Amino acid sequence: MITSDAVQALKLDGRALINGKRQASKSGATFDCISPVDGRLLTQVARCEQADVDDAVAAARAAFEDKRWRGKAPAQRKRIMIAFADQLLQHADELALTETLDMGKPVKYARSVDVNSASNCLRWYGEAVDKIYDEIAPTASTGLALIQREPVGVVGVIVPWNYPMIMAAWKIAPALAAGNSVVLKPSEKSPLTALRLAELALEAGIPPGVFNVVPGFGPEAGSPLALHMDVDCIAFTGSTRVGKQIHVMAGQSNLKRAWTELGGKSPNIVFADCPNLDRAVEAAIGSIFFNQGESCNAPSRLFVEASIKDAFLEKALALVPGYAPANPLDPSTVMGAIVDKTQLNSVLRYIELGKSEGARLLAGGEQALIDTGGCYVQPTIFDGVKNEMAIAREEIFGPVLSVLSFTDAADVVRQANASVYGLQAAVWTRDINKAHGVARALRVGTVHVNQYDEDDITVPFGGYKQSGVGRDKSLHAFDKYTETKTTWIRIDSPV
Ligand code: NAD
Repeated sequence: MITSDAVQALKLDGRALINGKRQASKSGATFDCISPVDGRLLTQVARCEQADVDDAVAAARAAFEDKRWRGKAPAQRKRIMIAFADQLLQHADELALTETLDMGKPVKYARSVDVNSASNCLRWYGEAVDKIYDEIAPTASTGLALIQREPVGVVGVIVPWNYPMIMAAWKIAPALAAGNSVVLKPSEKSPLTALRLAELALEAGIPPGVFNVVPGFGPEAGSPLALHMDVDCIAFTGSTRVGKQIHVMAGQSNLKRAWTELGGKSPNIVFADCPNLDRAVEAAIGSIFFNQGESCNAPSRLFVEASIKDAFLEKALALVPGYAPANPLDPSTVMGAIVDKTQLNSVLRYIELGKSEGARLLAGGEQALIDTGGCYVQPTIFDGVKNEMAIAREEIFGPVLSVLSFTDAADVVRQANASVYGLQAAVWTRDINKAHGVARALRVGTVHVNQYDEDDITVPFGGYKQSGVGRDKSLHAFDKYTETKTTWIRIDSPV
């Protein structure tokens, strides 16, 4: 258990970070940062709005124009990015504890997953940036056409609360490595680690003004960033509802490049010839309940072939008690708190909706640990779900699994694709033809075969359809934060 001394020792600072300096919002307004662990007030956070965003964008623009960052050789930026990644590891316990207090995830995962992945992401893009070559086009010999990447300029980043450090890192790492300046607006539900990241970036040697953080609410701080005439690119992760507005705001303003990583309702398809039923059960349960179900790629629609459904569910139910919610500060806890009361009530509303739609509640379904003053819900499983029900169509973003059934590959592909989302999917079968055939037919950005949780910074992450536009991670992410410039040179060869 983390001691109350460790919590008391944390110096939480909710002020914005603009042009290398911590500062209150211009209006002086703040908002309460409440912990979902037990309802305690953690600190006051600067409530930034248009004037603060204007300052941050002006600082970012000045840094871009005077080349204090993009003018450095790629090898120099690499060294500083790696130092930044190291800073996260050096402050891992503090960052993990802050993340847990701020958004409720178990501290063991905040430390082992969130801090490590964010650090690795910064390191990976830093490592990459001095190994990428530009191109010369195969034109006629009378000309030389250079195709070069240039940083796009000032990048606005807006992120959600479920993996605050990782979501920020997936965007700021390639954006900064490519030489851009960044203004980051973290979620109002989890602003604290983003502010610390910007301080650690300064300590690592990223010059003031290059990486700014403006905490605040979506309409007050996010919209001014998305609408800003001097922001060249907006990179957003969040709900599909707000993601659509981001594209509108980009179009309404300066046609800034807009990239959106949005919601999901990912199908996990288990055929009767699944090669390892125990592994499939563990992945199905572990992946939907990981991070309290607050993962965009959570496999929230479980399709099990009718002939093995009873056996599958019996094994699944046996695992559920292991995911009982508990104090996230206890290092043995695997299921923590839901991010806040609003989200908790939304999850509970969906559970009631599932019952009223006629789905059969197999496990959970109730709020938990009410006496703590925190936000907890039991891991919940519904059987007998139909694809038309709201709990199969809408993203619940909580620990709620909908179990559906199917008769054959054609049936399940039809059902799986009958969704506005297209983020991820999984197929469990020992038949290689079926695995490839179904994987090809699924309209999603990532298909897992006989596993669900494999992941790596080297592979793109993003979705088809209303799961968003563009890809995070991998070298493809550089496409979002660079312009492609062609320079034609006439060659009148004397020989
Ligand atoms: P959200 O859309 O409510 O908020 C996301 C961010 O947008 C927050 O910082 C918020 O303040 C800001 N925002 C809200 N209204 C805004 C506005 N009008 N203008 C500008 N900014 C605004 O989403 P959330 O509840 O924070 O996060 C959960 C969602 O994020 C889920 O839908 C989840 O699937 C999605 N998500 C997607 C991915 C992915 O990679 N596809 C990853 C993580 C989360």
